[in-house]
Formats: sequence, structure tokens, C-alpha cells
Amino acid sequence: MATILVVEDEPDINNLIRSHLEAEGHTVHQAFDGLTGLALVGQTRPDLLILDWMLPRLDGLAVCRQVRQDYLVPIIMLTARSEEIDRVLGLEVGADDYVVKPFGIRELMARVRAMLRRVALDATASDAAPLAATEGSDDAMPPAPPPIVRGGLRIDLADRVAALDGTALDLTLKEYELLVLLTSHPGRAFSRDFLLERLWGDDYEGFDRTVDTHIMRLRKKLGPLGEKIATVWGVGYRFVE
Ligand code: CA
Repeated sequence: MATILVVEDEPDINNLIRSHLEAEGHTVHQAFDGLTGLALVGQTRPDLLILDWMLPRLDGLAVCRQVRQDYLVPIIMLTARSEEIDRVLGLEVGADDYVVKPFGIRELMARVRAMLRRVALDATASDAAPLAATEGSDDAMPPAPPPIVRGGLRIDLADRVAALDGTALDLTLKEYELLVLLTSHPGRAFSRDFLLERLWGDDYEGFDRTVDTHIMRLRKKLGPLGEKIATVWGVGYRFVE
């Protein structure tokens, strides 16, 4: 069961969502404005964030953008706006899914279940480390993580090999790690800060353009598929499926 943070300023809606999530066994935290919501993301480290667009103190878009600087948590946005431009904008700051108000609570619950399933699959696909062996069984090898396949690109996580149309790509370690991160979360925008912290951590030597330079080289090596690594203006990069 998951820990889920609901950021919604209308108490009736927030409580309705909470009671349905709790009925399915999830742990729920609530916030009724954007600033509190943002703080609670850091404090409660939710597995899923349900985020209203129109919020007092800090709107959902700003919350989403700031959360994406540091966290991978999947985000479902609630919005009364159904205009295409808003959907695109929301996806560019890193929301993973949308539910347009007024929504049926069953529809939202279905999206929540789908998202949690997707995250579980993502976790399996992007975690190159072997799964913990079942207690008491010493015979079986842990199952190899499934490869990531995106068009002509295939990444075998167990062997740490990426191939394009059957030909192995000559990638540096950082390029490989960037590619795995981006392709295992298609559509999700990653900020430069997040990528630096995640992939370089203490190795980071303070060059402003480190991420951009690596992305540029990676795009070149990917040929036409390189266009799938899109620049998200003001944020960073994402892999477009
Ligand atoms: Ca609202």
C-alpha cells in the first residue's frame, strides 16, 4: 500500500479523496494550500501526489515545478481547466496525469491504481540491482530486470548495454545512466539540478553546462532518435515517447 499526499483546498473534495484512498488501504496526508503541500512532499516522501491546480498561497503548477526539482514522485493533477494548452504546460513541468474537474471519484481511483501500477513497473525496469532473493530459497537466481525498449532502442540493464537497431552504442557511464533515467520515465521532465544531483552527486565539479553537454553528446550518438530527448523550457529534459 502506498503513502499518498492530497493537495486540494476544497475540504469536501480533499476529504472525499482521502476516505476513498484510506478505504483501499493507503496512508493519506492532506494539505489545503500549495506551500503546505510543497513542505509535506519533503516531510512525508509520498509515493504519489494528487495535486489541485488552483490553490491558495502557491498554485499547483508552481508546486509541480518545484517538486520536480528534487523528486521523482508521480503527480496526478486535478484541474478545472480542460484547455489543451494547460495540459501541455502541466506535462512540461512534470505532471504525469490529469483528471479534469468535475470528476467522478471512481475515475480518480482508477487513475491512482493505474499510476501506482506504472510506478511499480518503472521501479522494476529502472533498478538495475538484482531483486532481493526470496527468504529461504537459495537455488534461484534473482530475475533479470526486463530491458527498456523504445522504438529501435534497447537497453539491457543486466548487461548495461544500450543498442540502437541492433548495434551497441558507445556510451560513457554518465551518458548511459542519463539514457536509462530518461527512457525509464518517458514523458517525465527532469530538471538539470535533479539530474546533476542524481547522476553526479559528489562528482559534480561545478560546470554549469555539464548536463547540457552530456545531453548534446547523447543526442548525437542516438542519431534520429536523439530528437526524442526534448528540452523542456525552464526545466530540463524529458524523453518523448
Ligand atoms: Ca482548488
